[in-house]
Amino acid sequence: MTLRRLVVGVLQTNCWIVTDGAEALVVDPGDQPERILAATADLHVSAILLTHAHFDHVLAVPELVDAWAVPVLAHTAESPVWPHELATVRRDGHWDAGTATVRLLAADPSQLAPPDRLWDGAFTPVEDLQEIHIGALTARVLHTPGHTPGGISLLVDGHLLSGDTLFPGGPGLTGPPLSDFPTIIDSVRRLLELPDGTRIHPGHGLDTTVATERPHVHEWIARGW
Ligand SMILES: [Zn+2]
Ligand SMILES: [Zn+2]
Repeated sequence: MTLRRLVVGVLQTNCWIVTDGAEALVVDPGDQPERILAATADLHVSAILLTHAHFDHVLAVPELVDAWAVPVLAHTAESPVWPHELATVRRDGHWDAGTATVRLLAADPSQLAPPDRLWDGAFTPVEDLQEIHIGALTARVLHTPGHTPGGISLLVDGHLLSGDTLFPGGPGLTGPPLSDFPTIIDSVRRLLELPDGTRIHPGHGLDTTVATERPHVHEWIARGW
């Protein structure tokens, strides 16, 4: 199993390419489709998986579906999230980038402007514990709600793609609409039951391990974020 990481878009989203060397699954194509196409040019991409449907994880979807004609996989409970993102951009004229919004707008408002082409929101539903075959690899979907209602993590070969559910130092944001702190704590506890050496690859920033993060759950609960 090989993981390729591309850091894309205004929020520096980790787009992951999971491959056995021939077949590939592309996780969270958040922006810059031309870079994702270049990084997969030697592979046969069989599907796109969304850990969740925040704008910074999906903006490259239309161009990639055009290029590959592959299904977009996401959890059924995620269906309200992309419509909510679109309603925000219609109302405010820009994406909601959480705590980074004010800073990004002050620096350059065009950074949070929607592109001309937007994903139509169509996806193929996946469920908790569903297996996804990527050539010789078998990945397992884990429904890990809290950051969003249909957030998923993907476990493959001792590696966990955790989306915006679990980062080094704590869970993902639960301030925005459609998120919930007690729910994300339940999801994080579940993920931290995985073996110590499980390597965690989040939706933004650096990797960590289950053994590194597990001792800190009580601190995260106490601080409330
Ligand atoms: Zn998110
Ligand atoms: Zn994100």
